[in-house]
This record gives sequence, C-alpha cells and structure tokens, in this order.
Amino acid sequence: MILLRSSFSALKVLHLLRCSPSVSHTALTKFDKLLRCSVQNITNSDLTDIQWIQASLPVKDGGLGVRRVSLLAIPAFVASAANTLFLQDDILSDCAKSYSVFLLSYLSDWSTKFGDIPDVLPTKQPFWDRPDVLEDRALVEASLNSTQDRASFLAASSQHSGDWLFALPIASRGLRLDDEAVRVAVDLRLGLDLCVPHQCQCGSPVDIRGLRGFVCKRAPGRAARHHALNDLVVRSFAAAGVPIIKEPVGLLRTDEKRPDGVTLVHDRKASRYVGMSLSYARWPSRILIEPLIRQVQQQRWQLPAR
Ligand SMILES: [Zn+2]
Repeated sequence: MILLRSSFSALKVLHLLRCSPSVSHTALTKFDKLLRCSVQNITNSDLTDIQWIQASLPVKDGGLGVRRVSLLAIPAFVASAANTLFLQDDILSDCAKSYSVFLLSYLSDWSTKFGDIPDVLPTKQPFWDRPDVLEDRALVEASLNSTQDRASFLAASSQHSGDWLFALPIASRGLRLDDEAVRVAVDLRLGLDLCVPHQCQCGSPVDIRGLRGFVCKRAPGRAARHHALNDLVVRSFAAAGVPIIKEPVGLLRTDEKRPDGVTLVHDRKASRYVGMSLSYARWPSRILIEPLIRQVQQQRWQLPAR
C-alpha cells in the first residue's frame, strides 16, 4: 500500500501531468482504473464508486492518499505553467507574448467549476487541487446514511488517524502490519464490509461491519493491546536511558518508599505520582527524574494528596 501511494500511483505520472497538457486524455482514465484494481487487490475488497472516491482522497481527508490522476491533470498543469511564466517571458523576450492555448482553456474550465481566478496565478498545486478534494469530500459525506457511517468518516478524517499509512513497514521496529491487519484497517477506514455475520464468543451477534470486536470484553485482542501499549511505553523509557521494569511488586506503596520497599524517595512530590501500569525499579538521578515528573503532572495522573 505504501509503495502504491508513494511511488506507483499519481507520483509516477505527475511530471507528465505538469509538463504536458493531458486533460481528458483516455490514458488517465485507464490509469485510474488500474489504481482502483490495485487497491482492491491489495485489500482483498470490492470498492463501490463512492468508496473509491473516498479512497482517492488525501489521507488527512479520510482517504488512502491514492489520488486519481484524471483529477490532477488541470491542477498540475496550471500550477506548473504559473510557476514558469516568468521564465517563459525571459526566454521569449524577443517574441510576441501569448499565453498557452491550453493554459487559457484549463483556467476557463477551472473558473467555471470553482469561481474567479486571482490576478496573479498561484504557483502552488494545492491551491488548484483543493477545491476538487473538497468537492469529492462533500460527495462522500452526502452519501453517508447512518450516524455510524458518519462517525466512521469523521474518525478517518481526524488528525493523526491515518498516520499508520505513512509508517514505513520496518519489522524490527514493530511497524510492519501483516496483510490481514492492512485489510481490516482499510475496510474500517472506508466503511467496507469486514466479515460475514456470525455470533461472537460472548453470544452477541456480529454484523458485516465487524465492529463488535472493539467493545466485546471477551475479545481476544483486548489483553494483547494492553500489553502492547505497556511494551511501547517501556521501550520509550528504555530508549531515553531510564531504568524501568513492568508492573513490579509494590507499585502502589503507601509509605512513600521506593517500589523496593526499603529506601525513601528523596523527592516527596514524586511519591504522589503514579502513572500507567509501570514503576521504576530504582530511581535514577534527579536530572532524569525531573522531566518524568513534569510529564506525569502534565498528563494529570496525580493521585489525591493525602
Ligand atoms: Zn463478544
């Protein structure tokens, strides 16, 4: 998926779109169909037209970032032309000046759909591209029938919800998702059917969206997610050079001693803070403690003062 979005999709032909007038070219439609088939094959799913439109939105707008090249043709060419107008003027200083016929035609098409064009043509492609994105996004939002679909789309378009799409699949760093995880993540993002209806192990029915697993108390992934989160926090502290163990005996002491039960914490404030399911096997120097205390304070994990 990351290779498709970052290398084999629109970026593969973007330089052609910027350098040559290619609007309405039949090859663009063919290229878009190939992209759609690729997404379907990677995720083992079947996309409706509206789901494909959502998939082709930028990640921050709830899509997968696999942009349709047929929509990028005008923004790419106009932005490139606007960016090189001064250079063209210099090169053609001795010739009769005239705007490109294609540029004027594309500006006219864009103006018809999205309104007036600034006197000075913007050189950034997002200026020309953004109205198309917003139009597609409005189309997707208009197609959402239930509050569940709407909530799912809002979640998909919220900040950082698509960060996993940008993570390099490095197995040694725990960033590699297996094929099934990618399929489930994409299906949830686009609101696709996730599974066949069946009965959960707790007895509740599970519909084709498969959302029951997120709330079921007997879901097998519940404990795994808890331990994965703990591992993540432990690795973070370890990477910062802070000695740490997970869930040691004596985590919640009431005598203001260290978890070892023998020595006193030399900072009384520190003894009032307990965070996560972690504790420190031994306190490092005060220089290392200070940032940790501030972090816990900021996250309001302060226990009531006794
Ligand atoms: Zn259940």
